[in-house]
Amino acid sequence: MDLRDTPEEETFRLEVRAWLEANAPKPPHPARGSDESFEFGREWHRKLYDAGYAGMSWPPEHGGRGASPALQVIFEEELGRAEAPGLSNHLGIFHVAPAIMAFGTPEQQERYLTPMLTAEEIWCQGFSEPGAGSDLASLRTKAVQDGDEFVVNGQKVWTTWGHHADWCQLLVRTEPEAPKHKGISCLLVDMHSPGITVRPLKQMSGDSEFNEMFFDDVRVSATNLLGARGQGWAVTMTTLASERASVLTFHVRTKKQVRDLAALARARGREEDPLIRARLGQCAIDAETLQLFSYWSVSNRGKTTGLEGSMAKLLWSELQQRIYETAMEILGPEAPLESEWLHGLLDSRGLTVAAGTSEIQKNLLAERALGLPREPKAQ
Ligand SMILES: Cc1cc2nc3c(=O)[nH]c(=O)nc-3n(C[C@H](O)[C@H](O)[C@H](O)COP(=O)(O)OP(=O)(O)OC[C@H]3O[C@@H](n4cnc5c(N)ncnc54)[C@H](O)[C@@H]3O)c2cc1C
Repeated sequence: MDLRDTPEEETFRLEVRAWLEANAPKPPHPARGSDESFEFGREWHRKLYDAGYAGMSWPPEHGGRGASPALQVIFEEELGRAEAPGLSNHLGIFHVAPAIMAFGTPEQQERYLTPMLTAEEIWCQGFSEPGAGSDLASLRTKAVQDGDEFVVNGQKVWTTWGHHADWCQLLVRTEPEAPKHKGISCLLVDMHSPGITVRPLKQMSGDSEFNEMFFDDVRVSATNLLGARGQGWAVTMTTLASERASVLTFHVRTKKQVRDLAALARARGREEDPLIRARLGQCAIDAETLQLFSYWSVSNRGKTTGLEGSMAKLLWSELQQRIYETAMEILGPEAPLESEWLHGLLDSRGLTVAAGTSEIQKNLLAERALGLPREPKAQ
């Protein structure tokens, strides 16, 4: 299998590299989670959009470039190489947009996709609730139709960027009598509507990137229903599959982290410690595997199962934790002083939880990739 760039890919890579060298903001960038970082990210997003690099894989009729998955991977590789940030509205572009393209009416596509691509309107995903995370289909936020509007009441939690968002892809229960997966609908909700309260949550890393959101008699036009009533589960699966698949481009930054980790071991005189060497070696193998897996997934050489996103997400998120745990092992009692590595360690704990926990990914792979029996339902 030839995984080298084709001539067309090589030309594109050099074009992106030259553009980034001339335009990418050099690190350090503003600290994550701050308002300054949000505005900085949005400004950078607009620059990428103006240069035609936002929505690389989106079809041209929606303002994208219609690029192949391989070009998308090359673009992300070059971004990582330049240590430049990605798109600030990535939740919209990579998670919500695929659902709007698959289930939206032409009017919805026309209304929402362009301002999403330009980062004029920032999006969040209102899925999880205090009693509905892994078992998302148990969600209780309800929407009752009242003429040509829905009236929404309930609570969401862990909503990334809810405090910055203009719009929310919101899952609600519209058919309380139906079996739980069939009673869910998806609404596109204006976050500036009366009745919405957003409260940022403080994470253990010190950042505040996600929120609790409360909906009290929030009125949403019925024209903002995405898909049919009761079709929300299918819409959700489109979003979650796209979210997990976006991890397939994360190998470049991961490989750099492993190189930084090796440099840390050398700087601390731990490069000959057999335990540290073994851990570093394993991290290097896993990062390489992630890259090869990503290339294989976009090469169309194998028969894809549609589960590559779950596999990559599992591999990447667990590797992130091993990288930071190894850093703590290297730093020993001085670890708390090295705030960047410690921040990474604290931040990495959530990665095996977001977008479906590791246990849920493993259940999915056991059942769908290996054909093992479905897990027993809780009584
Ligand atoms: C960084 C981050 C960002 C997030 N962003 C968003 C967002 O933008 N929007 C949003 O809606 N949500 C978001 N979430 C929430 C996330 O989707 C949920 O946290 C996740 O689905 C798990 O749900 P839970 O926290 O309720 O845990 P639970 O579902 O209560 O799980 C608790 C534990 O039980 C295990 N478990 C549960 N069920 C099973 C099972 N059937 N088999 C084996 N083990 C099981 C889990 O693996 C976990 O270890 C985010 C979470 C994080 C960490």
